[in-house]
Amino acid sequence: MSAAVLSGKELSAAIRAETAERAAALTAAGTEPRLAVVVATADESSAWYVRSIAKAAGKAGITCDIVDLGATASPESIRARLAELSADERVHGIILQTPLPAGASLQELAGAIAFEKDVDGANPVSLGRLAAGLPAFAPATAEAVVRVLEHHTIELTGRHVAVVGRSMVVGKPVAHLLLNANATVTVCHSRTRELAAVTSAADVVVAAVGRAGMVTADHVAPGAVVIDVGTNPTEDGGLAGDVDADSVSGKAGALTPVPGGVGPVTTALLLSHTVRAAGG
Ligand code: NDP
Repeated sequence: MSAAVLSGKELSAAIRAETAERAAALTAAGTEPRLAVVVATADESSAWYVRSIAKAAGKAGITCDIVDLGATASPESIRARLAELSADERVHGIILQTPLPAGASLQELAGAIAFEKDVDGANPVSLGRLAAGLPAFAPATAEAVVRVLEHHTIELTGRHVAVVGRSMVVGKPVAHLLLNANATVTVCHSRTRELAAVTSAADVVVAAVGRAGMVTADHVAPGAVVIDVGTNPTEDGGLAGDVDADSVSGKAGALTPVPGGVGPVTTALLLSHTVRAAGG
């Protein structure tokens, strides 16, 4: 039997509709929700992603400013611009797009984003607050993983979740969110021994590795729920997940598709966070 498909499309549409309603109410009350996306790269797939955020923001009634500093921007100039936007009362949400110029670190620069405006949870302060159970925006992708599980009524309390990946953007924040949801969490990475044995012991596997098709049927228990965070570009211009869907879907109980799973929910949550940062 083939695994159930855990689509993110309906959830994404619901979040977007709610966000548009809140944005309209805020605008009617005199606050125009505004998102600033700071870009310092000539990377084509990054430009495509930023355009897709701007388009989705426009549809939700959120003004989106693309602040392009150029691919040779210095870390100092990026930091200064983030500080300026953090102090600008008209701006409610700030995203620092990656990749960044050589020598610039996302974590270090994101410290200049006021955490109240850090709608993609990039400032290490946001992760610290998340770990401490204090209000903060989680990275949208990490939150999307938990929201997709909740949307499909997958119980997390007391369940064993194995997260493959420990980045600041996905693996670590998703582990904290899952802990906050009372799951028992194991975080795996490139130095984990016997990875397949560890992940096969879990009820839920979250794959956030950045390697197309790395998680195979050998990594999952029969009937397990598998969340594929991967967005690896393919030669034909498409996207491939971190999960080998062909092999895993014959063994797992449920699996998110790529595209159409975590991705659409991520974008919707960025907009939802922006409206919340604006007071909606
Ligand atoms: P990173 O490259 O920052 O992190 C990858 C993680 O995977 C690291 O912790 C690394 O371990 C671990 N890893 C790499 N190889 C292995 C291996 N063989 N076995 C076990 N663990 C391994 O990636 P990100 O976290 O930024 O992204 C992960 C995936 O999610 C990517 O495909 C990315 O495109 C996607 N993504 C999707 C988004 C969306 O909106 N849907 C948004 C952001 C990311 P170590 O720490 O030891 O090096």
